[in-house]
Amino acid sequence: MREGFGLTARLAVLTALLTLVILSTIGVALLSFGEYRQALSRLSSESTRALMTASRLKQQSESMVGSGALLLLADDHFSRRQAMFEIGDREAWIRELVVELEASPATQGTFGELDETLEQLVDNLRALDTLVQQRIDTQAQRVSRGLHDADGILRLHHLEERIAEQVRINRTLSMELGVAVGFHVNHIRSQLDTSVERLNEEIRRRERVLAAFAGVAMLVLLVTVLYVNRSVVRRVLQLHRAISRQRPAPEELDVSGRDEIARMARSMQRYMHDISDNERRILAMNRELDFLASHDALTHLYNRHHFERALDARQAELQENLYSVVMVDIDHFKRINDTHGHAAGDQVICRVAELLDEGLPEAALLARYGGEEFVALVPGYSAAALEPLLEATRRRLARSAIVVDGVSLRVTASFGVAQKIPAAAFSLCLKAADEALYEAKRRGRNRVVVRPLRQSDSEGGGDG
Ligand code: GH3
Ligand code: MG
Ligand code: MG
Repeated sequence: MREGFGLTARLAVLTALLTLVILSTIGVALLSFGEYRQALSRLSSESTRALMTASRLKQQSESMVGSGALLLLADDHFSRRQAMFEIGDREAWIRELVVELEASPATQGTFGELDETLEQLVDNLRALDTLVQQRIDTQAQRVSRGLHDADGILRLHHLEERIAEQVRINRTLSMELGVAVGFHVNHIRSQLDTSVERLNEEIRRRERVLAAFAGVAMLVLLVTVLYVNRSVVRRVLQLHRAISRQRPAPEELDVSGRDEIARMARSMQRYMHDISDNERRILAMNRELDFLASHDALTHLYNRHHFERALDARQAELQENLYSVVMVDIDHFKRINDTHGHAAGDQVICRVAELLDEGLPEAALLARYGGEEFVALVPGYSAAALEPLLEATRRRLARSAIVVDGVSLRVTASFGVAQKIPAAAFSLCLKAADEALYEAKRRGRNRVVVRPLRQSDSEGGGDG
């Protein structure tokens, strides 16, 4: 299966299966209806027709017996001939109906017995006709000869006996004919019953097949619905839930499988990863920008801007309390740059910053003030209290070698210190520290100079 088309392909297979089952069901139903229609028309055209023919045959057989009775009652030749004419007519009808019945597909078996009985009955009726003819003639002779014709009486008596015998045979044959016709009628009826029963059985069988097809269709439909629910709806909802969170977590996206939804989830996951990467990068940049807004990029000390803002914020506190200000400048730094390069100069600046940070009290606010210049506000410290700490730091710097690219450098720095006097502004104190630093340079560098601040300085030129 090609990647990304799994869901479409599976749904197409399920839909095709469902369509196939439904079409088969409709096909079976249509086929069944067609067969029932045929069976019904066959039943109505063949069996019903045969049944009607058989009934007419039975009627004609009964009429023939009736005509036989008329023949028996005939007392002149005209009535006798009329009865015989009717018998002949019935015989022709019966033969025609038998041929018709024989040809019908609804009947089965031979009609030989019926034919034979009919033959015998007709022969018998002809014999009866001969006897009736003799009786009419004998009676006519008796009338012409007179009432006491003993011979005629005897002959008549004899004839009546033979007629009675013939009538008995006649009755038996008529019964046999009726039975033979009845046999065929019954046969057609039972055939009809069998056909109806077979048709009903076939309908029941088709009903079971249709029910099975409907069951399979329902099953396939159920499987399709469950599959769509499990593979599509639930996963889409899961994705929706995952991306609706305030901070979507890429791990919560289900990316298992190779179908379209998994592909979409993977794309969303990649997108989310990109977003969180970018977010992380932006946060890091913001942190760096924040840091650089207040810190020096080289030494990571506070920068001059932050130092000045911090002073503004602490103005009230500084007004009330004692503090000292220290200015530090690296000696002959230009030479280091010129001799060892700017990068080496940078490393020296960093090392000096570290030493200052370590040497000053915890509460000191230390900042890089300019190129190789540092400033520190040390709250709670008088110049006298601070001087030994600065002296120690200066000595430590002067003694320690700074190794840059395998070259050992010796560096010193000059320190100017001033202590706040009551009611004096910070700028005044800073200026005094700067002057002290200048003094330290002037006096030969690598030293700490404390500038004692007098009240008159404050009155002379504080600028706030
Ligand atoms: P002095 O003892 O009188 O202070 O002499 P100096 O050479 O230290 O003073 P100067 O003011 O003449 O030179 C300071 C030099 O510091 C000039 C400048 O090129 C260098 N500088 C300023 N900022 C940086 C920096 O960030 N890195 C480096 N490597 N050099 C810097
Ligand atoms: Mg300088
Ligand atoms: Mg310098």
